[in-house]
Amino acid sequence: MPTRAPLDGTAADGAAPHADALAAIEDLLAGRDVAVLSGAGLSTESGIPDYRGATGSLRRHTPMTYQEFVASEEGRRRYWARSHVGWRAIARAEPNAGHRAVEALRRSGHVSAVITQNVDGLHRAAGTLDAVELHGGLDRVICLECRRTSSRAELDLRLHALNGALRDTGARVNPDGDVELPQELVDGFRIAPCEACGAVLKPDVVFFGESVPKPRVQQCYDLVDEARALLVLGSSLTVMSGLRFVRHAARAGKPVAIVNQGATRGDEYAAVRVARPLGAALTSLAERLTGGASAR
Ligand SMILES: [Zn+2]
Repeated sequence: MPTRAPLDGTAADGAAPHADALAAIEDLLAGRDVAVLSGAGLSTESGIPDYRGATGSLRRHTPMTYQEFVASEEGRRRYWARSHVGWRAIARAEPNAGHRAVEALRRSGHVSAVITQNVDGLHRAAGTLDAVELHGGLDRVICLECRRTSSRAELDLRLHALNGALRDTGARVNPDGDVELPQELVDGFRIAPCEACGAVLKPDVVFFGESVPKPRVQQCYDLVDEARALLVLGSSLTVMSGLRFVRHAARAGKPVAIVNQGATRGDEYAAVRVARPLGAALTSLAERLTGGASAR
């Protein structure tokens, strides 16, 4: 079991101490084949606030559970009305310097795989087309009956035809594309059924209270097994769906590094921890390792 690394420092553990913890991560990446696990903290610089970070919203906002969504039409109306407004912010969000640096490091072979807990699609938008979206993606919807998937953009047009553009209340969007909305707007909202069979449409994301599909979990374990090390970017690792890969890497004796603003549930497994803004830190790493290839 690795000893707990001091924040912004490296574990003693026989490794040479680095004056700069970022240099320890540079060394890790220089060895190539590092798997990345990213979370909401990587997308905050794209204007999507983290539930649990410094500006976190979890205290004032409880995400809908899978059980609530499937149990009642009222629950689904609430979800889709709020999401109809929140989707605007998600759809216009663009990848930031952090996503671009991760893609530069993937192209150069320093990063072997990207697993993300984010549902905003920003890794793919930055060019990381094979990023594994552990919790799915908001840009597509799935029918709970016939399992047909379709695009969110297409559904957005149908919801607009039924409801128009709901008044933007100016509330901040959450990472799952949800915003606070007055009850009268929720009550009057009309939801759109599956065009193929008329059943219930759900965003193709893993809700709270729902499990990640087993094949997808196995794919992530395989990517960690094939990697030399695991680099966590912008996740507090609060939920087990991400933490299990950190534990898995640590059990296999692979170094784990964490870049996150604040403590994480995986800190005890980390050989190095850095608390810095991700965009600047990752850009610096990509420039040093790829000769500035991340600059766009
Ligand atoms: Zn259907």
